Amino acid sequence: MIPWDVVVIGGGIAGASAAACLAEHLRVVVLERETQPGYHATGRSAALFSETYGGAAVRALSRASRGYFRAPPAGFADAPLATDRGALFIARADQTAALDAFAGALDVAPRVRSVSAAEVKALVPILRPDYVAAAVYEREAADLDVHGLHHGYLRLLRARGGELRTKADVIAIERSGDRLRVRTEAAAFEAPVVVNAAGAWADDVAVCAGARPLGLSPRRRTALTVDAPAGYALTNAPMTIDIDEQFYFKPDAGRLLLSPADETPSAPCDAKPDDLDVATAVDRVEKATILEVTRIASKWAGLRTFAPDRAPVIGFDARVPGLFWLAGQGGYGIQTAPAIARLVTALVRGHDLPGELDDAGLRLADVSPARFC
Ligand SMILES: Cc1cc2nc3c(=O)[nH]c(=O)nc-3n(C[C@H](O)[C@H](O)[C@H](O)COP(=O)(O)OP(=O)(O)OC[C@H]3O[C@@H](n4cnc5c(N)ncnc54)[C@H](O)[C@@H]3O)c2cc1C
Repeated sequence: MIPWDVVVIGGGIAGASAAACLAEHLRVVVLERETQPGYHATGRSAALFSETYGGAAVRALSRASRGYFRAPPAGFADAPLATDRGALFIARADQTAALDAFAGALDVAPRVRSVSAAEVKALVPILRPDYVAAAVYEREAADLDVHGLHHGYLRLLRARGGELRTKADVIAIERSGDRLRVRTEAAAFEAPVVVNAAGAWADDVAVCAGARPLGLSPRRRTALTVDAPAGYALTNAPMTIDIDEQFYFKPDAGRLLLSPADETPSAPCDAKPDDLDVATAVDRVEKATILEVTRIASKWAGLRTFAPDRAPVIGFDARVPGLFWLAGQGGYGIQTAPAIARLVTALVRGHDLPGELDDAGLRLADVSPARFC
């Protein structure tokens, strides 16, 4: 049996990014149940980076990830990981208080500015002028190349001597002296540290190791693409987001990507889109814009998995020595991956919160699993 230092369970963006960072110092193997890493949440995202999205811990982790997206290590990716998109947060007349509260938050205010009705029209010409009462614009929001990021990390993992094993469904985790033994149907892997990056299945994996589940809640979110209306220049339009997050839409490879921003609780599974959610997205976006949807080009759904307080869970389990939680990234797991990977690496190696995460305003207590004990 190869003496691994760390076994990572889950080959999505969380497992891949943490494993690549850990592999700079330690011998790391990633076990992924599917034939393709990224099959679940990671391959189904809307690929947005926004420093104003999520709660305080998420915003700090996003701020600390920004530099990586804009300037990844040499050779990491063949194309830019982040391209300018911008995000326009819109409010109807009955939603302006919510917009004011959002734009007034301490770490949001410096990143957004109010825009006039004329500017709204210039930015997103398909919005109905009588729909939008007020709007703020986050210029620095960006589209992310999720595939480039994920595969950049997997390449880095291999270059550093780490391994990814696919079709490796973890079915048991047992103690073996001062190590944990992780079993799949075909093999067993031992290491003093096991990182639980199993996305929607993270509570199940923890229970398998003898830990208490944290009450993680996988929630289905639906996305679809439709033809963009002819005659409108939308390629460079920002992502348009209802301030109460009831819908969003953005240009996507010549089409428009729409979502009803649903959060339907679900068991961990291969999520599929529900026709009612697809219809809801179309209805809400049609009310806000001149769009008339006649055909759905594509549709999908994925699970965004939240801890009870909607902040990620990063740190060693209180009761099972060596079991490390890397879960609950909700709707922000792509845009926070670089900073979270650095944090995981520091904590697994017994170091403190990295200085740049401290500078970004992250408090370890806000992401530690100890907050649920
Ligand atoms: C519609 C939608 C839009 C989103 N938009 C954005 C966005 O714009 N920006 C953003 O940052 N985030 C976004 N997200 C969220 C983001 O996709 C997730 O936070 C992120 O992908 C979570 O990554 P993960 O690696 O934790 O999970 P996953 O990608 O689900 O990976 C977990 C992996 O663990 C594996 N696994 C589970 N159990 C086992 C086991 N027993 N043995 C072996 N392997 C196992 C699974 O097969 C899976 O591949 C969106 C999500 C959705 C669904």
